[in-house]
Amino acid sequence: MASTGGGRSLSAFALRALPRTRFSGEDEGMKTPFAAEDPRPHLLDLQPAELRQWLSQVGQPSFRCTQILSWVMQRRVASFADMSDLPKKLREQLEAHFRLWTTSLAAHQKSEDGTEKLLLQLADGGRIECVLLREEGRRSICVSSQVGCAMGCVFCASGLDGVLRNLTTGEIIEQMLLLARQLEPQERLSHIVVMGMGEPLANIDALLPALEMASRADGLGISPRRITISTVGLPPAMRKLTERNTRYRLAVSLHAPNDELRSELVPVNRSIGLQAILAEADAYFAASGRQLTFEYVLLADINDRAEHAHQLANLLVRREALLNVIPYNPVAGLPYRTPSAANQRTFREILESRGVRVKFRHRKGDAIDAACGQLRRSNRTGVGGP
Ligand code: SAH
Repeated sequence: MASTGGGRSLSAFALRALPRTRFSGEDEGMKTPFAAEDPRPHLLDLQPAELRQWLSQVGQPSFRCTQILSWVMQRRVASFADMSDLPKKLREQLEAHFRLWTTSLAAHQKSEDGTEKLLLQLADGGRIECVLLREEGRRSICVSSQVGCAMGCVFCASGLDGVLRNLTTGEIIEQMLLLARQLEPQERLSHIVVMGMGEPLANIDALLPALEMASRADGLGISPRRITISTVGLPPAMRKLTERNTRYRLAVSLHAPNDELRSELVPVNRSIGLQAILAEADAYFAASGRQLTFEYVLLADINDRAEHAHQLANLLVRREALLNVIPYNPVAGLPYRTPSAANQRTFREILESRGVRVKFRHRKGDAIDAACGQLRRSNRTGVGGP
């Protein structure tokens, strides 16, 4: 496993934090810890129906749920005590039963291109990163779904230290709220991409309620068409998504047009294979009617040759799909290179000549290591921690 230098190992820190936690709930073999010293659940780990149920148990009408969500999701108050139109007793009961904010800001970086990156410290010491991107007319946030990543894509920083655990629904929503808070009053959040650290479909049970809250009118009010889940391509989880919710856009990280190369770049592919992934992507398209996106990190001399572009065109040309090419964003310590502008152009021209819809993703935030594939569990300056 590559080390990117900078001294202290955050994975050792994270592992030391583990004995302080107990485990509850399992998804795709991952465990979700809660801080043992504070047994109160995160308010945002409850779905609205569960909150209404709790309210009825304490003798409160269900409209209190709308009030509480509005205080959290729209006004983003710091504490239950600030929810001034709730009865004082209810505020105290909420405080006794639930936690409201469980993450703290460990670092905040701003880039000249308007990109902002937050390093968040979770209640159990784990760390994640998430990003706000500013583009013409768009304000997008990129959120993480796990602490680290288990997929091991060879060109990505997020998996360099492996995976520690899944994020809870509340922790995923908290990222959205903390990023939305960075917007100026005249700016409006428009898009959400689950393309931060981790494999979202390996944490689908926590992710879907978080996206549901993001899209509700009394949540963040983001249209599901403007919410994208990006996956490395896990067929059983893709099928689960097709069965459970087809409102979101699905992006599949392809990175290679044949299994031999893909298995080198994306090791989980060895036991999966492109055909199984494409079949599930087609099933999602058939059920959702949403155009698919395929992502392709372009690596100099590895997957950027003319033959690769032709093979990729063979795979995509008959599909209702957009190909998102991401010229490699450098990760310290990794040996890959970004293709030259001329090679990028040739790759694009071949695909376009074959009738594939192609977009090159404009690099954003790389000055602060906030671009695709540069998010990690630690930051090298080591804010906080032992
Ligand atoms: N696990 C999910 C989501 C996280 S990665 C997935 O694999 O899709 C989000 C996107 O960034 C993926 O397409 C990923 O392959 C890409 N990416 C990873 N490392 C990169 C790098 N160094 N340069 C450019 N893009 C990268």
